Amino acid sequence: MDLELQPLNLPSDYRRPIVIAGPCSAESEEQLMSTATNLANLGCHMFRAGIWKPRTKPGGFEGHGEKALPWLKRVKDETGMLTATEVATPEHVELALKYDVDVLWIGARTSANPFAVQALADALKGIDVPVLVKNPVNPDLELWIGALQRINGAGIKRLGAIHRGFSSIDQKLYRNTPMWHLPIELKRRYPTLPIVCDPSHIGGRRDLIAPLCQQAMDMGFDGLIVESHCTPDEAWSDAKQQVTPDVLDFILDRLVIRDNAELTESLSSLRKQIDEMDDNLMDLLTRRMRVSREIANYKKEHNMSVVQTGRYTEILDKRGAQGTMCGMDANFVKKIYEAIHEESVRQQMEIINQ
Ligand code: PEP
Ligand code: MN
Repeated sequence: MDLELQPLNLPSDYRRPIVIAGPCSAESEEQLMSTATNLANLGCHMFRAGIWKPRTKPGGFEGHGEKALPWLKRVKDETGMLTATEVATPEHVELALKYDVDVLWIGARTSANPFAVQALADALKGIDVPVLVKNPVNPDLELWIGALQRINGAGIKRLGAIHRGFSSIDQKLYRNTPMWHLPIELKRRYPTLPIVCDPSHIGGRRDLIAPLCQQAMDMGFDGLIVESHCTPDEAWSDAKQQVTPDVLDFILDRLVIRDNAELTESLSSLRKQIDEMDDNLMDLLTRRMRVSREIANYKKEHNMSVVQTGRYTEILDKRGAQGTMCGMDANFVKKIYEAIHEESVRQQMEIINQ
């Protein structure tokens, strides 16, 4: 299903992409005003703050709710910035709009639940407000697209996506693994859908914000949503990943925004080479599958099982080591061979079961 989109029409300035900045949560009127004034003085046009906070465990700060909405309204009236907040229920939508919030986003825990997203879509019917849909916590592109389709189906055309990384059971560098291929595939399928990167929830750490912002820009993202707090160490939620407005300004100032509008001669020639190599790769793969089918005939005649684990391990080890020697990541090579093996087994099964 196609998405019917219109430009978000959100403000940005000459040196920056769309930037939405502000604290994880609205904690007090003073904290909100102080952070917002600083950000506005540094040239920020859009302010975020969580009014309702979905927390993994009970007992954490779950947001002030409606009480904090007049503070957000004051930010808008006094600084001129647009405001943005997370909505998770139809009641949140109604309240946010009552207090003139300009941009709504759907959080990662909510976009993972089609019932919740549909309830939001129903509440948004007939309203013209930009909505940004965060990726679901689990790395499921179709679920993310489904959420976008539900909101779009309600008539929201000023629609965008936020990439905030995905939960993973492994302990690793990032709080939420970026899995960049998923937002990139989303962009491939919906080229006009704006995608904003949330380096704060991907990184989970202050020192990762700058490199993640740059990476997002290098991958052609349309904007950034970054958590910024006047006194990050004292933040009531996500303290480790929030940066002061000054630090954020420093990070944004150093971003290199590359212009990829112009395709130079040399780039086209390099792309041509890649196309030829891809042709060769496909050709080789086709031939490899043909040999694999011949092996299947042999196995069938000799009553052998399709998967010979010893042989499979041998291939993985040998090619993994070869790949490392050629400067490739061992895991990458492993993934390729797993995929080739899976297709090979599928084709052999067809022959054996004929
Ligand atoms: C947030 O933006 O503060 C938030 C709760 O993010 P996410 O839904 O990505 O976890
Ligand atoms: Mn947060």
